[in-house]
Amino acid sequence: MKVGAHLWIGEGLAKVIEFCEYLESNCLQIFLSNPRSWKSKIRKEEEIEKFTQSIKKRKIKPVVIHMPYILNIAVSKVKEKNKIINFLEKQLEESEKINADFYVIHPGFHKGNGEKNGMKNVVDLLKNLPKFNIKILIENTSGQGTSLGYKFEHFSFLFEKIGNDYGICFDTAHAFQAGYNLKEFDKVKKDIEKFIPLSYILLIHANDSKTELNSKKDRHEHIGKGKIGIKGFTQIIKDDYFGNLPFIIETPKVSLKEDKRNIEIIKKIGEKYGKI
Ligand SMILES: [Zn+2]
Repeated sequence: MKVGAHLWIGEGLAKVIEFCEYLESNCLQIFLSNPRSWKSKIRKEEEIEKFTQSIKKRKIKPVVIHMPYILNIAVSKVKEKNKIINFLEKQLEESEKINADFYVIHPGFHKGNGEKNGMKNVVDLLKNLPKFNIKILIENTSGQGTSLGYKFEHFSFLFEKIGNDYGICFDTAHAFQAGYNLKEFDKVKKDIEKFIPLSYILLIHANDSKTELNSKKDRHEHIGKGKIGIKGFTQIIKDDYFGNLPFIIETPKVSLKEDKRNIEIIKKIGEKYGKI
């Protein structure tokens, strides 16, 4: 079973590997730069090389890069779109350089232009993005504000237009907040399959939810302490398809101990159902 966490990048790539070792995790997620800034971080070749050697040696896979929050890929203005495309290009280039496997993007906010127009803008931007080898995953959202991608209808529209070079990152908290009751997981699976093949989903963001079902409020909680609870996570982990995907935890933390605890909970359930 692949279980890891979103890790701090502030102290450099070498530190990320140390975190990973402490957590006894075999996959990871990071930002490449400050997620609330347009500034890119320049890294020395040496730092990158050491990192790629370490992930290979320690069999850490997948390495996931998350897009900075600051980008709204559903913008309509050409100038803004181009700024985002240029930025993403640099991020994807660097992601490939560090041998990352997935690059996770959020489908953005329509900001009053309507969901249909927002989705069309997303398609337009993605179609203009140069091709890279790294797999881009589009993450489902909670439906907070004017966010897109909270319904699987949105994904069927997207994939129809952009083709299936892309994949999906399934965030458990976001799905629950968007109205998918993960405590009745078989029903959720069927609801998803009405719109997309499950095989498009390649990664799980394993977060419990602080807010109620269908709250449209994005607040993550530690595994088992939120509204999805152990019951919900057990169903996901024991599932033949979902339970074999990599799990990345993105819960709020002041210390890595909290990640360690969440990872242990997931692994324990995995052990019980023969995933480890
Ligand atoms: Zn997420």
